[in-house]
Parts: sequence; C-alpha cells; structure tokens
Amino acid sequence: MQGLMMDMPLLVSNLLQHAARHFPDVEIVSRRVEGDLHRYNYAAFAARTEKLANALTSHGVQVGDRVATLAWNGYRHMEIYYAVGGMGSVIHTINPRLHPEQIAWIVNHAEDTLLAFDLTFLPIVEAIAEHCPTVKGWVAMCDRDRMPAGSKIANLICYEDLLASGKDGFVWPDIDERSAVCLCYTSGTTGNPKGALYSHRSTLLQAYGAALPDAMGCSAKDTILPVVPMFHVNAWGIPYIAPLVGAKLVFPGPALDGKSIYELFESEKVTYSAGVPTVWLGLLNHVVGNKLTFSTFNRTVIGGSACPPAMIRTFREQFGVNVIHAWGMTEMSPLGTLSVLQTKHLSMPADKQEAVLAKQGHVIFGVDMKIVGDDGQEMPWDGVSYGELLVRGPWVIKSYFKGAGGDPLRYDTQHRGWFPTGDVATIDADGYMQITDRSKDVIKSGGEWISSIDLENLAIGHPAVAQAAVIGVVHPKWDERPLLIVVKRPGVEVSRDELLAFYEGKIAKWWTPDDVQFVEAIPLGATGKILKTRLREMFKDYRLPGA
Ligand code: AMP
Repeated sequence: MQGLMMDMPLLVSNLLQHAARHFPDVEIVSRRVEGDLHRYNYAAFAARTEKLANALTSHGVQVGDRVATLAWNGYRHMEIYYAVGGMGSVIHTINPRLHPEQIAWIVNHAEDTLLAFDLTFLPIVEAIAEHCPTVKGWVAMCDRDRMPAGSKIANLICYEDLLASGKDGFVWPDIDERSAVCLCYTSGTTGNPKGALYSHRSTLLQAYGAALPDAMGCSAKDTILPVVPMFHVNAWGIPYIAPLVGAKLVFPGPALDGKSIYELFESEKVTYSAGVPTVWLGLLNHVVGNKLTFSTFNRTVIGGSACPPAMIRTFREQFGVNVIHAWGMTEMSPLGTLSVLQTKHLSMPADKQEAVLAKQGHVIFGVDMKIVGDDGQEMPWDGVSYGELLVRGPWVIKSYFKGAGGDPLRYDTQHRGWFPTGDVATIDADGYMQITDRSKDVIKSGGEWISSIDLENLAIGHPAVAQAAVIGVVHPKWDERPLLIVVKRPGVEVSRDELLAFYEGKIAKWWTPDDVQFVEAIPLGATGKILKTRLREMFKDYRLPGA
C-alpha cells in the first residue's frame, strides 16, 4: 500500500523560495572583492537569482550543463549556486588554491560550459582560458565599471550585465530530486582529483540533518559567517542550511585574516562560524594579542583536520565559545560526525567533557559507520580498538563522476555497499568516533601503530608551539619512528629536549617522537590541511640521531 502524501521533490529551489517567502527581510551581508560591504535580504537574493536563471537560460545553459566558479564566499557566488542548481544545471565549485594546470584539468574533465570568477582570480583564468575548449563564456563577477580592461580572454562576460539581461521571475522546474546539483572534486594529493556529484535529494537531506540541535545546531536566531570556503565542499552545507532555518548570513569574501574576520564578527553580531583549525589560529592570535573579547560569537564548527584539544579549551575557557568538532569528507557532502555533549556527559568533570569534545563525534541520522581491521573483521566499539572507517548513507557517494578511479565501494560480503573512507579510527561505547590518522599517514613502529594526530595535538598544547606535524621516518630496527616538526611561536624559545619531555606521562613512552625539527612554516594544502606528502618529501634524506 502506498502512502497518500504529496510527492514533492526535495530541490534546492525549494530552499530559496522558502527563505524568500518566510524570512524575506533576513539579511545576507558580504565583504566584496571591491573591499566594501554589500547588504541585501533573502527576498532580494531570490529576485536577483531568478533574473540570473532567466539570463543563463537565454545564454544557452541547459539542464545538466556544468557551470564552474572560482570565487570567494559572497552573495554573487550564492546567486550562482541557486540559479544554476535550481534550473537543473550543475554548479561546479573549483578551489582556486590549486595549481592552474590542475584547475584546467578539472574544468576539462567536468566539461564546464561557463566559468564565473572573482576578479582576484583573473590571472588564473588568463592562464587557463585557451586550454579549456568547453568553456563558452568567462563571467567576471563584478560591475561593468570594474571589468578588466584589455584582457585577452575571448568571451569575457560581465556578471552584472548578464544578470540585468534576465527577465524578472523564473518558474523553477519540477525536476527529479535525484538529479545532480553540485560537483566538487577531491583535493587529490595523489593522482588526479575525482568528482563527487551531489543530488538535490542528498543536498537537502544533509541540510536537514546538519541543522539538527545535536549536529550543527543552526537556527533563525543565528548569524552565520562561514569562513570555510564555498569551494570547500559547499562551505560544509551552510549556503543550504542558512536559508533552511532562516539564519542571517555573513560572507567574508577574500578578507580571511584574523583582524578582518574579528571586525566582521563584531559589526554584524555573528553568533556562529565554521572553518578548518588553521584559520582559527589567525583569529585567536589576533584576539589574544589585542586582549579582545567576542560580544556575540558563541559557537563554531571546526573540522577538515583534527582540531587540537588546546584550541577547543582556549575557545571555551577564555572566550565562552563552544567548539563543535566535526568530521567529514568531500565524498560525504561532507558531514559525517560531530562532537556535542549528551545528557550523560553533563555531570562529568571538565577534563572528561573535553576528552569527549576532542573526538570527531557522533553520527547524524542518515550516516552509518563501522570500523574494520586488516583481516576484514568489524572491530568492537570500545574506544581503543582501531580500524578503517567505513560509512554509508544517502549523502555518501556511490561512485565518482564519470566513473573515475573505478568502483569505490567495498564488495566483500560483510561490508557490501560501504564506502571506505581511508581514515583509521576508534569508536567508543557511546558511538563517538575518534580519528587516529589518515591510513597513509599512520606511523608503523615495530608492527604497532602510532597516531600522528595524538602526537600533534599534544605538541600544540605546549605554549611555545604555533604549529606541529608528525611524520614517520625510516628506522633500521623499528621500520618507522615519529619525527615531530614544529613552528615556534614568534619570540618564544624552546629546545628539542623540552618538547620531548612535554610528552612524559601523557602517552606511552614508546610513542614519544625520536627527534624534533624546527621549521619556518609547515606546508598546507589547498584546503588548509597539513600536506604530509610534502613534509615526507622535505625530510626524505633526514636520518634520526643514532639510526
Ligand atoms: P576533504 O575531502 O578534502 O574534506 O578531506 C576529508 C578528510 O579530511 C577526511 O577523510 C579526514 O582524513 C580529514 N578530516 C576531516 N575532518 C577531520 C577531523 N575533524 N579530524 C581529523 N581528520 C579530519
């Protein structure tokens, strides 16, 4: 027997219409590349997005076509998200921090038909344009009077002219909710990047799930400033979650330094934010260095790489800001788990609560997970046993765009249809997952695994350490031993022996790194994560003392 309820598809255009109708005067504020602040509301956003959809249709953009962006977080980027997605085409967000050759490769692989860019990225567009034959137009996201003069790019279009050419009003089509809406490529530190192709349905389900109180916990009372870029897995869903709950949005544009972010937090009364750990280092340095406080900011999601417990503590104890530590990946749209306290944790002492909050957390309904050992057996949820983390759910990929890399799912009998994340983790009896390492970063010493993340987290807790990374280096007896690589805080001195002594009593003695190397900077990848591949390359000739 079929249920007798309406068969309304879950579409991103529903989110836009919902926000425009039920939260028309809630604001979207954007720091523009031009430097000024742009301000309008969901009603005006929807009206401009409809004009853009009409303009794109007149321009020949068809259902299923890919339209790419190289853009900061801002209102025009948001308009492209919704116009392109809503009309049944596919928005393809590209990370501008990738090498131009890699960007061109991605554009060609995706067969993008249009590419919209912020003026900051004009040099990239100039470098790649002639190598991207599928792109029929390059849209500069600016006013007419800001259009680059004398550019050699053929088919350069002004975004505001394009938008103005569109008619008012657009009838959002009733497309299949399983149609593609958005394409994101993995960062591809090894091999070519692979595309994750999200559907309207997966995007809306994730937005519903992510907004829940024990997940990201967003509401109409929030003013959300996503520091995480809209080119990094859709700013972790915030451009969809904010219209869903009716939250005010504040987009920081290109100004991502601590001072600029802090000023926007204060002037726009931001309550909520999200970003990778490295961006918060800049903000905390600015706030601590200038003895500032936050007047409204009270929660932030931190993920993308492990958030050091010291950072969670500083936010909580010094600034009253709750950190929601989250884990996910491009292949999961991206949200998988978040760490939020449950009733049973509330009566625990602060250090026990901190230990829970430092984990990557509990799944949202919609994601299931398990850990499996090398022998393919599922490992117990005891918080100690570790294994590769497998996931499944309606917003997890089943294959990559154009079948790249073959079938990614497991097909052994016990784990048929599960997606192997490549992360190694433990899960405790309450279902809180903790990442030990990326499987290729695990340090194998004498046949036993050492968690580089644990060692990095502890090192970051030392007052003289600004950044820390741990890699395995060859050892004649133990195969591999950990090497700690440190960037010191400016003006603070600390010795190798002091740092190694700092581990005493905090970990098993044999986990202690064999040596420390001080560097000026730790290489970061395109999404702000430590590039361990580059570090291993840098230290390939390094030999441990006495080894
Ligand atoms: P990406 O698809 O580029 O977002 O990268 C996803 C990968 O980032 C995951 O598979 C993890 O290895 C890592 N990652 C994401 N969030 C966390 C976290 N909170 N702690 C540790 N690693 C993380």
